[in-house]
Amino acid sequence: MTTAPDFANSVDPVKLDKLAEVAIQVGLRLQRGQDLIMTAPMAALPLARLITKHAYKAGAGVVTTMFADEDMTLARYAHAPDESFDKAANWLYDGMAKAFGSGAARLAISGDNPMLLSSQDPGKVARANRANSMAYKPALEHISNFDINWSICSYPNPSWAKLVFPDLPIEAAVAKLADAIFAASRVDLDDPVSAWRQHNADLAKRSKWLNENRFSALHYTGPGTDLTLGLADGHEWFGGESTAKNGVTCNPNIPTEEVFTTPHALRVEGTVSSTKPLSHQGTLIDNIQVRFEAGRIVEAKATRGEEVLLKVLDTDEGARRLGEVALVPHSSPISASGILFYNTLFDENASCHIALGQCYSKCFIDGAKLSPDEIKARGGNTSLIHIDWMIGSDKIDIDGVKADGSVVPVMRRGEWA
Ligand code: ZN
Ligand code: ZN
Repeated sequence: MTTAPDFANSVDPVKLDKLAEVAIQVGLRLQRGQDLIMTAPMAALPLARLITKHAYKAGAGVVTTMFADEDMTLARYAHAPDESFDKAANWLYDGMAKAFGSGAARLAISGDNPMLLSSQDPGKVARANRANSMAYKPALEHISNFDINWSICSYPNPSWAKLVFPDLPIEAAVAKLADAIFAASRVDLDDPVSAWRQHNADLAKRSKWLNENRFSALHYTGPGTDLTLGLADGHEWFGGESTAKNGVTCNPNIPTEEVFTTPHALRVEGTVSSTKPLSHQGTLIDNIQVRFEAGRIVEAKATRGEEVLLKVLDTDEGARRLGEVALVPHSSPISASGILFYNTLFDENASCHIALGQCYSKCFIDGAKLSPDEIKARGGNTSLIHIDWMIGSDKIDIDGVKADGSVVPVMRRGEWA
């Protein structure tokens, strides 16, 4: 069994309070009277408490938090009957879907141990994930359709800190991960809320340039990568804050450095290699290399976690196609920290990435007004999964290709050209 001593003393309480304030004021822009549903690892209790305080100060209706505990998760793999792994708490997810449908906001605190399930049976892990994904789908649709304001922030869970800084004593590892989270989330500055205002303006400028250029495809070249990635018809680039269908402008990811849009599910050709390990629900998948034909992954390998990768690709038809493409300069603050976080929220913001699976319907011109059929007709992908993986580095060049075949440099050696 793992132990769960309290390392909260290793985390600066003033910065943690600022992170909670940023989560409510910037991440969610929680509205007076709005309910909030929060999920958190057990270790993140100190942050969940501060967020709850800031939520009620901002006028929240009811804040409901659900905690997950690592030992309880492992107990299932150690002792549950086989049929347990095809089940999920459907009633809970139905309730979440109902709450989002009636306007509740959603906040996730991330920070789970990325390796928690690495020594468990991959078949059971995949079945449990699939059962969860299916049960969560109606709730997730409110998030992927951007019906409500939602956000993710993170807490330096000791088991995560130990993985990121294996050579440090645990107290020092937690303190160092906390500092990295605070810096990336811009809460080590005097006025984090205005720092976020400036950052959002910078990301909006990049998105505007990409939207004005109306590229029909991006062409990536680098070690193990020669990929032509078609963009969806009528795609729109976004970055930083954006406005949910309920009219609330929020920052869905704290931190965020990316500008992103929707690829065309049928128009991706060539080979691409991952540049950082992907931590997927408790397993590390490393050195991924895949080949696309007509938008579909027809070959996939990995030097580590290949079995899990292949199972993920078989989740459904859309799991072999792309749902997101995102650009992040190699010099982004998270990349510059040089830390490999083993956590997508951070690592994807250190690197250009693509995502397998579900697209964001808002990444289209007038996306909010499009029906699922119209999104599909424009090249938007559908799947139970959305898994980001990192393909950027200081060795990758990206060109924008216009409909007339002309080419504009977008990135050179990982930086904006
Ligand atoms: Zn992304
Ligand atoms: Zn993504």
